[in-house]
Amino acid sequence: MQKLAAIKGMNDILPPDSARWEWLEGVVRSLMARHAYRNIRTPIVEPTPLFVRSLGEVTDIVEKEMYSFEDRLNGEQLTLRPEATAGVVRAVVEHSMLYDGGKRLYYMGPMFRHERPQRGRYRQFHQIGAEALGFPGAQVDAEIILLAHALWEELGLKNVRLELNSLGQPEERRAHRTALIAYFEQHQDQLDEDARRRLHSNPLRILDTKNPAMQELVEAAPRLIDFLGAESLAHFDTVKAILDAAGVAWSLNPRLVRGMDYYNLTVFEFVTDQLGSQGTICGGGRYDYLIGQIGGKPAPAVGWALGVERVLELLREQAATVPALVPDAYAVVPDAAALPQVMAALQRLRALGVSVQMHAPVTAGEGMGSMKSQFKKADASGARFALVFGPDEMARGAVTIKPLREALEQQEQSLADLPAWAATLQSAR
Ligand code: ATP
Ligand code: MG
Repeated sequence: MQKLAAIKGMNDILPPDSARWEWLEGVVRSLMARHAYRNIRTPIVEPTPLFVRSLGEVTDIVEKEMYSFEDRLNGEQLTLRPEATAGVVRAVVEHSMLYDGGKRLYYMGPMFRHERPQRGRYRQFHQIGAEALGFPGAQVDAEIILLAHALWEELGLKNVRLELNSLGQPEERRAHRTALIAYFEQHQDQLDEDARRRLHSNPLRILDTKNPAMQELVEAAPRLIDFLGAESLAHFDTVKAILDAAGVAWSLNPRLVRGMDYYNLTVFEFVTDQLGSQGTICGGGRYDYLIGQIGGKPAPAVGWALGVERVLELLREQAATVPALVPDAYAVVPDAAALPQVMAALQRLRALGVSVQMHAPVTAGEGMGSMKSQFKKADASGARFALVFGPDEMARGAVTIKPLREALEQQEQSLADLPAWAATLQSAR
């Protein structure tokens, strides 16, 4: 029979690598709790119009990257979420979550974009994101940037730069848009097909081009930051002052516009030079008009999303050590007749916080296998101890605890005293 394989650009995450994912998620949960951000889980499939309306019709994602399909049962147009902010905002509106003030939320999960798979760019990838909804102040822009920065610190991630820009307000964007169209019209011959198509529908998008041939043109284009009024500049200054006081370095990138249309005022990206052309590990900004745009009572918001694969790849690139998952103990059981008693003892140990891997033969009908092969498995598991439940020990209601990694004497413990032994393990952690 023909072998079935995963879809191109959609990866299995297998042990031992999955331990790195769990570790990262654990660090994030702890950090979010300390910042009082609460977990939200929204569906992976949403109605297509949600993304078209929020991301903007003339964006890479909506024009060419969405996995959309028709529900066979009722003909509804559906899309696998390419990002999570739109879904979070929908949920916040649908459940009137802002009725009693602002909400700080975070999520983790898979996203889907039909892109050309390459290092750091997949079709199913994972984002972790934070959103602060209902707060207009620049202090919250800074708070959420500091939150991302704290995450890099706790992960031990290095060589990550923060780039900032301000996209101002709609009326400021309109003046800039006029100047931008005039500039690009003068250089029509240097525009690629996408840019020519977007020139009048969404010229700001041209600044987000990945086409190397257009970089020089884009570099010299009118800068949005030069069109901002006093209020927008003051908002931006507050963000920068808080970052400065917190000792977080940043640089202004006037070309930074982000890939979705919903942003205004502060936008930012955390970038690295260590991941080739997929160097953006996290991006976000303020989106004060999105909630109103998808039918909610208008309210301000700010958020970011990071790419889990890129963060993990960068950690690997920097040879960062991630705690490996190894059991404390491996249970060696020479005689299958002892299993009922042994397994009851192991459950008591596990309840006390000890991680125990139980030996289990992989061939049928040959008992538990030789002691030699069991010890080989115990060694390969990385466990610190082998717990040997031999017939002599069992007759005495005891177990032999044999250190596998340290030059220590093995010792016999009565099963009744195992809680005390478990406690010594716990206190050494
Ligand atoms: P890029 O410019 O690299 O295409 P983007 O602007 O489309 O990124 P966002 O929509 O801002 O990305 O998503 C936030 C983060 O999610 C990115 O900074 C990146 O780390 C990650 N990301 C985006 N698309 C992918 C993908 N196809 N595969 C893996 N990670 C991705
Ligand atoms: Mg993209």
